[in-house]
Amino acid sequence: MLNTAEKARFSETARKGLCSHAYIVDGTAGIGKFEFALFCASALLCSDSRIKPCGVCPSCLKNAQREHPDVAVIGGEKAPSVADVRELIHRASLKPNDGERQVFIVRNADKMLASAQNALLKLFEEPPESVAVFLLTESRSSLLPTVLSRGQRIHLDGMTEQELTALLKNEFPAKSGPEIAEAVAKAEGNIGAARGYLSKTSADLRASARTVAELALSRRRYELFAALVQPKYKREQLASLLGALLELSGTELKRKSGIPARAECEPLPNATKKALAAIGEAAQNCLMALETNANVTAAASKLAIELSGVTARQTTDIKGRK
Ligand SMILES: [Zn+2]
Repeated sequence: MLNTAEKARFSETARKGLCSHAYIVDGTAGIGKFEFALFCASALLCSDSRIKPCGVCPSCLKNAQREHPDVAVIGGEKAPSVADVRELIHRASLKPNDGERQVFIVRNADKMLASAQNALLKLFEEPPESVAVFLLTESRSSLLPTVLSRGQRIHLDGMTEQELTALLKNEFPAKSGPEIAEAVAKAEGNIGAARGYLSKTSADLRASARTVAELALSRRRYELFAALVQPKYKREQLASLLGALLELSGTELKRKSGIPARAECEPLPNATKKALAAIGEAAQNCLMALETNANVTAAASKLAIELSGVTARQTTDIKGRK
């Protein structure tokens, strides 16, 4: 379960009936803010007196289906507008449908314009007894100080490594242990980042980057050109591949330099530090070219030429060590 400690704390507060009316939930993208707010909504509306949320009362069941009439969500893809906030304030002035409370969840609160935040402030300052509002934000600094001062802060740190590992193993049964371990290390408790890392697209990208690096290191120039130029990459695709290549060469360089990495990927064969640095440099040059609007095919060809040179440097490196 995500954010277990914070949920346990909220659950206990709800059981004691000590909940506040205004919360500001902050944490990075993908850390589970919305899921946490839904949990809190369930806890606040649950009719069981011992465990909140109990998960089985009619209110909890409605929440599990996302069909509770006393839970409203504004903002999502877009930032909540002034009109959204006014609608929410209007609803807050009405009586709850089912029970004693209404819960409002405001997503992307940090992206709200000052005008929308000011409109919301009215509700934050004098919330009706029955209302609880959750503002979800990635950055507290984007909220007006007046809004910040009214809400109780809940900071989400994400999951422990064990929790994240268990969850990912369950969600990605086809992934190997080392792959999961690498995703966990990279994600730093952020479930969204871990899922992104294990998703097919990013796995494919890392595989392509590895192929390019291996071709460069094993002096297979013709195949290197074929791998970089023939797919006719779009600008963003080539940029993503370069990002993966930079990350791979960086990780390998660290490994060669004896800097302990938390996650170990399969080592690149025949890679010297010089060659790895040259691969990183070539990728960086190509990224810069793409940013200055260079022709993509020309940039890919130039990258292939530079990467071919990596082997020359590597040869001197090997000779130099003899
Ligand atoms: Zn319940």
